[in-house]
Amino acid sequence: MANVADHKTQQLWFLTGSQHLYGDETLKKVARNSQEIAEALDRSGKFPAKVVWKPVLTGPEAILEVCLAAGAAPDCAGVITWMHTFSPAKMWIAGLTRLDKPLAHLHTQFNRELPWGEIDMDFMNLNQSAHGDREFGFIGARLRMNRKIVVGHWQDPEVIEELSGWARAALAMAESRKLKIARLGGMNMREVAVTGGDRVEAQIKLGWSINGFGVGDLVARVAEVSDADVDRLVKRYEESYVLEAPLKKGGEKHESVRDAARQEIALRAFLETGGFGAFTTTFEDLHGLKQLPGLACQRLMADGYGFGAEGDWKTAALVRLGKVMTAGRPGGVSFMEDYTYHLVKGKERVLGAHMLEICPSIAGGKPSLEVHPLGIGGKADPARLVFDAKPGSAVNSTLVDMGGRMRMIVAELDVVQPDQSMPKLPTASAVWIPRPDFKRGCQAWIEAGGAHHAAFCQAVTAGEWEDFASMAGLEVIRLGADLDLRALRNELRWNDAAFKLGR
Ligand code: MN
Repeated sequence: MANVADHKTQQLWFLTGSQHLYGDETLKKVARNSQEIAEALDRSGKFPAKVVWKPVLTGPEAILEVCLAAGAAPDCAGVITWMHTFSPAKMWIAGLTRLDKPLAHLHTQFNRELPWGEIDMDFMNLNQSAHGDREFGFIGARLRMNRKIVVGHWQDPEVIEELSGWARAALAMAESRKLKIARLGGMNMREVAVTGGDRVEAQIKLGWSINGFGVGDLVARVAEVSDADVDRLVKRYEESYVLEAPLKKGGEKHESVRDAARQEIALRAFLETGGFGAFTTTFEDLHGLKQLPGLACQRLMADGYGFGAEGDWKTAALVRLGKVMTAGRPGGVSFMEDYTYHLVKGKERVLGAHMLEICPSIAGGKPSLEVHPLGIGGKADPARLVFDAKPGSAVNSTLVDMGGRMRMIVAELDVVQPDQSMPKLPTASAVWIPRPDFKRGCQAWIEAGGAHHAAFCQAVTAGEWEDFASMAGLEVIRLGADLDLRALRNELRWNDAAFKLGR
């Protein structure tokens, strides 16, 4: 279920618009050229799904047919359109108004160079994207369609990067539409505001099916786990992580490690059986569990599951979608919380962490498996992986319910090496500086209502999250190097009005 490496089963349909006016010879060239572009995109190795060329479209019936087929095809994650020649856009209305998949408009031209010395009417007749794509662009604007427009020559690396980034968001959208989220304990942390939200609205907008389960369902599975399975998993822990003597066989903390392994096996089976892609736990309902699941959540996240602590189903879903968008790229995705600060003037830092549940996919080195007491939950000392996150750029994304609509906030950060080692910190952590700087980055996040929980992604850009939000029709606030606080305040105010007016 959570395997994120199987995306090549998904397709992006490449649609080329034209019309009958030009005669067979030109239409054959249009077909050859567009096929060459589709194949080049596919061969670039940058796309997370197969780029599939479709026959050139010259009339409204064929356009409607292919748009309906794209909507009905479970393996079609989105469509890419391009007008090599002129394709009168009223022909596209029937199709586009019924298109139920993400749309990208590639504004390119087959010939990179204008043949200055040779240019004649044949060249002009074929290379018409400059105005053909404007005609197509108008109808997208007139229909108020959420679409991605990528401009430039189809062989340019930045064009391929931008279009394939959109494709990643399209795959996340496809995942979103079928995502099942299990809430173990079935509740949010008591009295917490920001992790709540309208689950029916989330299902309407995003497709998420969010349901609660008694923690007893998990407890029953934990009791059924065999000792042999626990032995095998503990052996894998020993191979994968650094363990100190007390955690190893015969050590005083070894039983805690075995309990954690039992939880992982049970939780994994629960998620697989139910077809869930994301899950939440809550330390306020651990009835019958020996310890708060920490290691299990960390390792399941590393295998592609979304996770949110304290019943936070929104962040759990974002973590899962981040995993889908990241597939095949180096860099990880984790549940994250802005935990504590370093406020020395000029060296301000955020230390991000959680009680236990940070995904080892973001680790800079080999994690160490540790068992320490936990001040809350009133349970046995839980096992957890401890590590520092790898330095580099990252983004935090969060989803908040503004009452009547969801708002996504995406913030760019620079993860840095901790100033000093933190030998007494019993949890994994990431140290970062928000962009454009600590003061403005924090202020903007708080003004926009961003949560203390986020999906932390090392290999998804803020622009890709923006593409996803656009596909889902979500409000999205992007915070980065170009942040202007006064403009942001206006954006928040105007968005309120815009979303109330609706479409
Ligand atoms: Mn938390």
